[in-house]
Amino acid sequence: ERERLNRLKHTPAVTMDGQHIELLANIEMPEDTLGAVKAGAVGVGLFRSEFLFMGRNGKLPDEEEQYLAYRKAIEGMHGLPVTIRTVDVGSDKPLDKLAEKAQDSHLNPAMGLRAIRWSLADPPMFLTQLRAILRSAAHGQVNLLVPMLAHASEIRQTMRLIDHARAILDSRGVPYGPVRLGAMIEIPAAALTLKVFLKYFDFLSIGTNDLIQYTLAIDRADESVAHLYDPCHPAVLRLVADTIAECDAQGKGVSVCGEMAGDPSMTRLLLGLGLRSFSMHPSQILAIKQQILRADTGKLASWAEQVMASEDPAAMLQSY
Ligand code: PEP
Ligand code: MG
Repeated sequence: ERERLNRLKHTPAVTMDGQHIELLANIEMPEDTLGAVKAGAVGVGLFRSEFLFMGRNGKLPDEEEQYLAYRKAIEGMHGLPVTIRTVDVGSDKPLDKLAEKAQDSHLNPAMGLRAIRWSLADPPMFLTQLRAILRSAAHGQVNLLVPMLAHASEIRQTMRLIDHARAILDSRGVPYGPVRLGAMIEIPAAALTLKVFLKYFDFLSIGTNDLIQYTLAIDRADESVAHLYDPCHPAVLRLVADTIAECDAQGKGVSVCGEMAGDPSMTRLLLGLGLRSFSMHPSQILAIKQQILRADTGKLASWAEQVMASEDPAAMLQSY
């Protein structure tokens, strides 16, 4: 089976009815671009930059170290676009043992100071990362992606800091490149207020791992409720569908970068909901491409409507 899939490596990801689908890679370290290229990814859809920050006993990477890491990932993709997500520590990704202990004192770390909240709470740290990302963009096509936004005020604060980071680089005479700005949609509040996101951002990326967790109130790391963690819950599908439709209507790019995008049993449904860009672990790319080659998006659109309206979407997926 692996061998059969490997033969698909150079086959373009096009559906039976001629729709071109973008297959992107999720990476954690610059070296992961090797596997991404090998699997035939046409870019990095999610570079989880927090992996540069974790396990260092609180000593964060400085601007130069980050710049070199982002640049390495960009060069590793040989001119293909790289989406760098600003740091998403906290919750299930503690900075280090010390922070982990500190977090234990909070009952709900997933609802606490994580991701963009953590970044906005420490502007010098965030500005350092923003400068490193902007500088790396001088070496290739970079998309800057912001995790866990919910409030318009957070969006405006983030934009101000990005402008400020550029101004600092200008004043220092340090070269940097242009970036496309994107937001992750992973809190239901964000999916329900897309207008403000689309006012400020060039593209959106749906983080279904967290979107499911927050929509269903299911801790994604808690085994005792894992049976209720349901990617097919109609409420989750509705938020995903609306986000895709709203981006399409406004001509903005949209992708899914949660585990859902790399799950072959979900590919047809996501195509039916209008998704044309998937970002996943490199090991899943060929299996997803195989699903795409067999799909007819014209037929899938009306079927997806029925799945979403059904009381038991998961059963409908199985019976297709
Ligand atoms: C997500 O929430 O779906 C996502 C891609 O981000 P992470 O898994 O890193 O929280
Ligand atoms: Mg997330």
